[in-house]
Amino acid sequence: PRYIADDNRYDGRMPYSRCGRSGLAMPQVSLGLWHNFGDNACFDTMRAICRTAFDAGITQFDIANNYGPEYGAAERNFGRVLKQDLKPYRDELLITTKAGYDMWPGPYGDGGSRKYLLASLDQSLSRLGLDYVDIFYSHRMDDDTPLEETMGALASAVQSGKALYAGISNYDYETTLRAVEILRELHVPIVINQVRYNIFDRHIELDGPRDSNDEKPLGLKDAAQKAGIGLITFSPLAQGLLTNRYLDGIPTDSRVGHDPRFLHEEDVKSRHEQIMQLNALAQDRGQSLAQMALSWILRDGIDGSISSVLIGASKPEQVLDCAQAVKNTHFSEDELAAIDAIAPV
Ligand code: NDP
Repeated sequence: PRYIADDNRYDGRMPYSRCGRSGLAMPQVSLGLWHNFGDNACFDTMRAICRTAFDAGITQFDIANNYGPEYGAAERNFGRVLKQDLKPYRDELLITTKAGYDMWPGPYGDGGSRKYLLASLDQSLSRLGLDYVDIFYSHRMDDDTPLEETMGALASAVQSGKALYAGISNYDYETTLRAVEILRELHVPIVINQVRYNIFDRHIELDGPRDSNDEKPLGLKDAAQKAGIGLITFSPLAQGLLTNRYLDGIPTDSRVGHDPRFLHEEDVKSRHEQIMQLNALAQDRGQSLAQMALSWILRDGIDGSISSVLIGASKPEQVLDCAQAVKNTHFSEDELAAIDAIAPV
């Protein structure tokens, strides 16, 4: 049956935060297609996940050229979802893609060169069946390419109309500031840095230089604020560790159970005690562990530097559970201290 989006999708359940000082608003919860959208997954489930997300006010869908398996498959599959369901809502959607990691053989299918980025964007648009993406990202820093060249490629992507905004991902403190400066000089709207952040991985808090008077180093939140861009945080659930998935063994349909490319049984074992303790804390707050993990990231509120948490999902129900995290992002000092005691910085 033809998909008709829920009339209540903008009823206020999902807040939208501006990315830095830009005009672009992001849903506080966004959906990423790194896992569960390759050719090893069921198309009807992908379709249901995307419909559920959009109905819940999740307007942002994040992809990269090589999400799969195989490389390119997630873009192709999302292209099918667009064609069948979401295309009529194109102007209500933020669709993002990236290039920077391994994509095709030879010297031009990896890194940060102009040659790679612009060819890859054309390929992505063709797989997605789109004329433009909303944000085109440099997926990672590349020491072998001058930053001016990589940023120049993002500028060309925007100037050619193939991307509306530029983004960077996995950029450190210094390189973020330099990248933004280069693009501002070119009058290209750069809006976001996409980085890993969750209760178990807080490296972004300590990424920058130490202020002489301050005992704590500056982090990527400070860099984002300084540069006037936002942060979107990937793997906010530590790929599923910060959920109820692994409380009691390893389900066969979980990431560790069926697609352990980047998450392994040992990760579950070494974190199990912490996961149980965090789950108890979440229950005291009246939240699922997934919800508490996301609320914790969003705790600085709509004026903080974090514009959105970028979740993955293998089932529509997970999307709905996560979307509720925005309801309670307040933490008492005691709760924050308890989380730090369980998962030290
Ligand atoms: P998460 O940390 O959100 O992990 C997602 C997994 O958590 C799901 O697949 C599911 O596991 C489980 N899960 C989600 N919600 C729930 C819930 N409510 N209850 C129980 N379990 C739940 O994120 P990902 O690691 O998937 O990354 C998210 C996105 O971030 C990616 O799709 C991609 O867009 C982006 N990303 C960007 C990177 C970059 O370099 N820029 C790198 C990595 C990711 P299960 O499958 O076991 O059910």
